[in-house]
Amino acid sequence: MTTFYGSDYAALEFFDPDIAGVLISELDRLRGGLQLIASENMSSPAVLTALGSTLSNKYAEGYPGRRYYGGCSEVDKAEEIAIERAKALFGADHANVQPHSGASANQAVYGAFMQPGETILAMSLPMGGHLTHGAKVSFSSKWFNAVGYGVDKKTEDIDYDEVERLAKEHKPKVILAGGSAIPRLIDFERFRAIADEVGAIFWVDAAHFIGLVAGKAIPSPVPYADVVSFTTHKVLRGPRSGAIVCKEEHAKAIDKAVFPMMQGGPQMHTIAAKAVNFKECATPEYQKYAKDVIANSQRLAEGLAAKGIRPTTGGTDTHLSLLDLQGVGVTGADAELRCDAAGITLNKNAIPFDPQKPNVASGIRVGTPSVTTQGMGLEEMDVIADVIHRAVTETDGSADNTVTKEIREQVTDLVTRFPAYPR
Ligand SMILES: *Cc1c(COP(=O)(O)O)cnc(C)c1O
Repeated sequence: MTTFYGSDYAALEFFDPDIAGVLISELDRLRGGLQLIASENMSSPAVLTALGSTLSNKYAEGYPGRRYYGGCSEVDKAEEIAIERAKALFGADHANVQPHSGASANQAVYGAFMQPGETILAMSLPMGGHLTHGAKVSFSSKWFNAVGYGVDKKTEDIDYDEVERLAKEHKPKVILAGGSAIPRLIDFERFRAIADEVGAIFWVDAAHFIGLVAGKAIPSPVPYADVVSFTTHKVLRGPRSGAIVCKEEHAKAIDKAVFPMMQGGPQMHTIAAKAVNFKECATPEYQKYAKDVIANSQRLAEGLAAKGIRPTTGGTDTHLSLLDLQGVGVTGADAELRCDAAGITLNKNAIPFDPQKPNVASGIRVGTPSVTTQGMGLEEMDVIADVIHRAVTETDGSADNTVTKEIREQVTDLVTRFPAYPR
């Protein structure tokens, strides 16, 4: 497990102690606290080895067998393997593994299906969507007409009737499902039916939950959607990157949109790392991991609910929960700060119909991908629920607070028993 932390690292330490120092202290930070950010995970030494390889040097604009540069015989193999593994893992007709990130993958989907000014119907950012789904500051609303749907006031889950009503009213070219703060399963069948009703392309942005799909722990959007974009570094646990799978009829449009419409040379080292990750995801160990992530997430949400920190929608079906702090009278921003001081890393997050500004927020988002990678289970989730609750309600965010110090000790005990990147 420690091969990546090896001889090359020593060489870097000798040549550039400034940056080597950052790498070392970041690893210490990672190991020293509880990592509960729902979009983060800890990829394997095998993935990190591929990322740190000489494939980073190679220019390979184009696709395997059709490159604009010579010398691509070896990197072609890496990309072909990555494509085949992605298709097999998700049961997809076609895969493009070149997007540099989730946002780049999404840009390519816009490029493949939409002309400037055309309409997209997507979940709005304050309701749980993503910047690239039509937020004010994003290209997605500057270049396209973005119509946003939200959640039902009572259930706090996607308001499918609203989606249908808006689809009929606005006749969007594309309907998008997915987001960054959706704790519940998405009804892909219902979305497909709405898209068919108005003749729209149905796109799923599975960035957050694709790992749970890969691990066969939740239903897949692939049979329903025209196109599915995703990141590879969240629950999936691969390198920081993106990918797209789609139906055969859209293969050419997607490939052209990724390159040359949106991107230049692909990052071949990252593509090799994606291939390694897809192989990991096809194992029984990963499938168990995906189920454990959800079981842990549900236990954590239950534990917090029992202490008066309410999960929106009443709970979670996935790796994340969104917690409403109004009941304990603390803002999301304060909670983030107080947890941080106690060695618990999580993020403030707007909840549906949040009365606070986004940079204050009434909620926090917690996810279990990282702690589950470290091997923590249900018992540890009970401890984590307790330390979050105490940090939020009994501390003030200063490092010398007595309760903060107590919590830090409990956190240290947990991460010592379940270390990240064991030495
Ligand atoms: C994380 C995320 C993205 C963006 O991924 P980046 O790699 O950060 O660009 C896109 N869509 C959704 C729904 C996400 O959660």
